[in-house]
Amino acid sequence: MNYRHAYHAGNSADVFKHYVLTLALAALHKKDTPFCVVDTHAGAGLYRLKKPGEFEQGIGRLWPQRAAWPALADYLDVVAAFNPHAALKSYPGSPLIIQKFLRVQDRALCFELHPQECAHLNTVLAHGPRVTVTEVNGWNALRGALPPKENRGLVLIDPPYEQPGDFKALATALGVAGKHWRNGIYLAWYPVKQRRPIERLHAAVRALKLEAAAVEFLTLPADVEQRLNGSGYVLINPPWKLLDTLRATLPSLAEFLAGADGRPAVQVWDLSGA
Ligand code: SAM
Repeated sequence: MNYRHAYHAGNSADVFKHYVLTLALAALHKKDTPFCVVDTHAGAGLYRLKKPGEFEQGIGRLWPQRAAWPALADYLDVVAAFNPHAALKSYPGSPLIIQKFLRVQDRALCFELHPQECAHLNTVLAHGPRVTVTEVNGWNALRGALPPKENRGLVLIDPPYEQPGDFKALATALGVAGKHWRNGIYLAWYPVKQRRPIERLHAAVRALKLEAAAVEFLTLPADVEQRLNGSGYVLINPPWKLLDTLRATLPSLAEFLAGADGRPAVQVWDLSGA
């Protein structure tokens, strides 16, 4: 277990990941009834940004131009909340982003296996309520958390993919979760490197026969299998209009973050398997 998200925090994959997360969380505000969010691989919660760093091609590129991106306002507002003096110094991870969207009636469960990341997460979340952190294997804990009593909400699955088995673990987890909580929203992030594991994951999701899609966001040409060319989300039960919003906004965001040397690409698959 060597993965530390701090090295990657705020990179272009995080911008994509957290922008989509904020859209899904905002969609949950359309009803007053309570919701529950489960974050199976929560990370340390808040990251100090130091140059040189991957964030320079991600949030670092976007930050000076943020006024020109009204479509990303909810996401950028959360980042701004952790950078009150305008200079970009810190980057909030998924638990802090989720916490910002919780109303008095909502709650979140965060699972994190690494003791140090867990301790840090507890510290940064202490200033706000309604999030429970558990030091536990997120793959195992997910099953016990479903269905949440609110029967509304979303599950973020964001493993480190340092083990070759993480794609398989994700397909299994979605299968089990889909049985126990069919109407939950699932956002399952994956890296775009080799195509084979992604194709197998897509096939496994199709077989669930749930309303599902995948969205990929690339800033580099997909011809080097050893590096992170981009990333994707499997989206199960995506909120109404979410895919339309992503189709409208992601191509220009990918183009902007790819810069002159990259190769932007956005692709959407229907995995509904009907
Ligand atoms: N979701 C976070 C975010 O968006 O800010 C980033 C999470 S990072 C990609 C993956 C995290 O999973 C790491 O902090 C790692 O320590 C943790 N981890 C690895 N294996 C795990 C497991 N089996 N259960 C729970 N957490 C795990």
